[in-house]
Parts: sequence; C-alpha cells; structure tokens
Amino acid sequence: MSLFQPVNLVCPKCEAPVIMMAVGSVNADRRPDLREDILADRFQDIECGACQERFRLQPQFNYLDVGRGQWIAAMPADRMRDHLQVEDDAALLFAESYGVKAPQAAQQVGQDLTMRVTFGWPAVREKLLIREHDLDDVIIEMMKLHILRSVPSVPLAEGVELRLVDTDEDNDAYVFCWLETASEKPIEDLNVPKALYGAILANPTGWQAMRARLENGAFVDMQKLYMGEGRKSA
Ligand SMILES: [Zn+2]
Repeated sequence: MSLFQPVNLVCPKCEAPVIMMAVGSVNADRRPDLREDILADRFQDIECGACQERFRLQPQFNYLDVGRGQWIAAMPADRMRDHLQVEDDAALLFAESYGVKAPQAAQQVGQDLTMRVTFGWPAVREKLLIREHDLDDVIIEMMKLHILRSVPSVPLAEGVELRLVDTDEDNDAYVFCWLETASEKPIEDLNVPKALYGAILANPTGWQAMRARLENGAFVDMQKLYMGEGRKSA
C-alpha cells in the first residue's frame, strides 16, 4: 500500500496556505506510476492555488520495490548531518518490517531487498536510476571519488553534491551532475566514460577497503566519508 496524508504548507512565494497529500510510503510494485514520477523529478510537486508558484515537498517516506529488490528510507536533504541516527532508525524499521523482527513471510520478502538511506530528491532518484540500469551503487560512489581526485576543479561545497542523472549511450558514458541537494538546481554536467565503471568493477581487491567503508551502513554515499566522525567499523 502507498500511504498519503494531508499536510498544511505555506507557499514560499505568497505565503498562502496550501494543503497537499504528503506520501508516507511508496509501494512501487502496486504503484509503478509513483516510481516513474520520482524518475521524472515531479513526485510531490505542488502548485500554489493563489499564485501558481510551484514548489516541492522534501522526501520523507519509505520506498518499497519488491520486484527490483529495493527498500529505501528517503529522507529530507537537511537530515544528512544526522545520517548515523537516520541509518539506525531505518535499520530498526527494516528489521521490524522485513528483517529479523518481522513475521516469517515478510522475512522471505526481505531476503531479496537491499536497504538504503537517501537524503533529498536527487539521491533517491539516483538509486532508482542505478537499479534501472542494473548497476552497483557502491561502484557509482567509487566513480565519484575517482572524479574528485581526477578533475582539476570541482564545485564542492556544503549542500552541493555529485549525482548520476542519466546515461549517454551515443558516447558510451554516464552523465553525472553537480547540483544543489535541497533545491535540485543543476550546476555542471560531467560525462564520464563507462569504461571507468568497468575498471573499478575489474579491480575489487584495490577497492576492497573503500567498499567496506561505503557499505558500513545503509547510507551508501561518498559524502559520509567526510562528514563527522563516521561509524566505528565493526
Ligand atoms: Zn503562492
């Protein structure tokens, strides 16, 4: 079931009250249209009835796609600083829904689900896109680390992140974009040869330590490598 409930908002432009149906959970198996909306960057878009300003509610929902093996706690961009706490909360929720604390039948479903935590719309969209193309999200994060080390100037700043946004089949490349997490405003596109993905994939030993760090929790995102103390390795 996909769950929605009404929330009272204020238009950021004219301050008129706006009521919208905010999603609390998305079931992509039953509502594939909601998955399409996320990929098309239009899910939870709102138009103010008074001034027609369009704005977007930040994500705050659980996403389930049994067919594609995805379970995502999609959180608002501004919760990223609390990523360890959010990871713990999500792990508990997952355990109760599909893990060790769930009924047997639900655990069966849970075996094939990969748990992830994301912050902001570009991040949850990226996870769906990665799955769409049958890619490994850990390797995509490794590609970003490689990009950071390789390109002479990067627009790195707090609230700015690098996301996979598309593929460029004509040029055999992946399209990454530097963008503002909260506003989703694109800053700069970057075409990266698919060969880089293949090179990282072909060298698991060289990337083993980095893989362990990225997979140490459901927030699989290179940004956690430079935020706060991080999680103590097990
Ligand atoms: Zn308005």
